[in-house]
Amino acid sequence: MLTTGASAHNWAGNITFGPERLHRPSSLDELRRIVAGAARVRALGTGHSFNRIADTDGDLVRVDGLPRRIEIDPAAGTVTVSAGLRYVEVAAELQAAGWALANMASLPHITVAGSVATGTHGSGDGNRGLASAVAAVEVVGPDGDLVAFRRDADADADADRFPGAVVSLGALGPVVALTLDIEPSFEVAQWVYTGVPLDALGSRFDEITGAAYSVSTFTDWHGGLATVWLKRRTDRDGSGHPGADWLGGAPAKEPWHPIAGMPARFCTRQLGVPGPWNARLPHFRAEFTPSRGEELQSELFLPRAAAPAAFAALRELGPALAPVLQISEVRTIAAEDQWMSPAFGRDSVALHFTWVKDEEAVRPVLARMEELLLPLGARPHWGKVTTAAPAAVAARYEHLDSFARLLSAHDPEGRFRNAFVSELLAER
Ligand SMILES: Cc1cc2nc3c(=O)[nH]c(=O)nc-3n(C[C@H](O)[C@H](O)[C@H](O)COP(=O)(O)OP(=O)(O)OC[C@H]3O[C@@H](n4cnc5c(N)ncnc54)[C@H](O)[C@@H]3O)c2cc1C
Repeated sequence: MLTTGASAHNWAGNITFGPERLHRPSSLDELRRIVAGAARVRALGTGHSFNRIADTDGDLVRVDGLPRRIEIDPAAGTVTVSAGLRYVEVAAELQAAGWALANMASLPHITVAGSVATGTHGSGDGNRGLASAVAAVEVVGPDGDLVAFRRDADADADADRFPGAVVSLGALGPVVALTLDIEPSFEVAQWVYTGVPLDALGSRFDEITGAAYSVSTFTDWHGGLATVWLKRRTDRDGSGHPGADWLGGAPAKEPWHPIAGMPARFCTRQLGVPGPWNARLPHFRAEFTPSRGEELQSELFLPRAAAPAAFAALRELGPALAPVLQISEVRTIAAEDQWMSPAFGRDSVALHFTWVKDEEAVRPVLARMEELLLPLGARPHWGKVTTAAPAAVAARYEHLDSFARLLSAHDPEGRFRNAFVSELLAER
């Protein structure tokens, strides 16, 4: 399918993409012809990013019209999926077959390809980002040829290239298939602790983040309280909660939604009821598909050791955050190997901000917040809003030159570049 001059928006509606043409090919050959005949090409997933990372002034392609693939290889412990699939579909099929992914993001309605391209993550001291589950990616290269990058390939070339191939910022061309690590299905029980004094987040951080397989802490940095959401793997952590007055809070007696006033029925089941991993690890239910977002998001990844200083800075800033912040979330991510992952090389704490949908009001507050946190070593999420200059972001990636070389070797004419990537790699 080809739509010339079509406009497309991201999920939040704050970005209008500017492609000359928008395509949704239904066969691989059609996609290969589009790529080979284009001067500039980018792929678009479900458009859940909040910035221009997916944008192009050339041809924008969606790969969700390609034949659907979900192929489980029990012996290898992997599944190979077509790149346009959303986690929600892959997870349901894996669970039905007795398999699981190690982790998921808060929302399951995002594509696998789009998520791993931006370093999307869930939470957990021992959990790396979603890109770390990727064992192979297959892309359509600049001439329309198929190119595979494999983690365990014998060829030296692949071993050298693979660390740049998954968190690719979409710059290696349209991904058409991904192979992901899987493990036997497991169950998770969720407990939400409300009324936790915010002081405990700083003073008992390791205890909090170590209390479950995946832990998220929500706060506004202003009212002095936090809510701690535990996702306990029943086979490792047990299914009970850590105590009636743990951290000085209390286990919620009703289901809870992170944003005040939003219906808790949108959220995955809580109150300690065990259930399959894919119905507990995301915060939001598979059945509830928000088609438009009344929010903007930012997120900064810091070295874990910087957490206390970051929390103190955010509490100072609390009154300024209050008018524009809907909620903030604190998660942890284990150190990753992918060169362009914001959690590369360091156990990380990710500080997420769901803002009101008013870019003009949010930007000055975001700039003040980033002025405080960037000096602590923060790296912004690739799919969210930041005020950091591309050169300042680039300086935070020690393997940026290797990534630039990989792109130049794979795509010498820069067919898969866009303004976002070119600004990041300026002078490289
Ligand atoms: C409500 C909500 C909740 C979120 N929760 C989390 C969270 O828990 N954790 C987190 O880390 N992030 C989170 N995010 C951010 C989100 O995961 C990222 O923005 C992610 O990139 C979205 O995937 P997408 O399919 O929408 O990709 P898009 O936004 O469409 O694209 C992102 C990038 O991927 C590239 N891309 C997409 N498809 C392909 C393809 N087939 N081949 C090559 N490149 C491709 C694009 O070119 C672009 O560069 C959330 C966002 C929203 C709106």
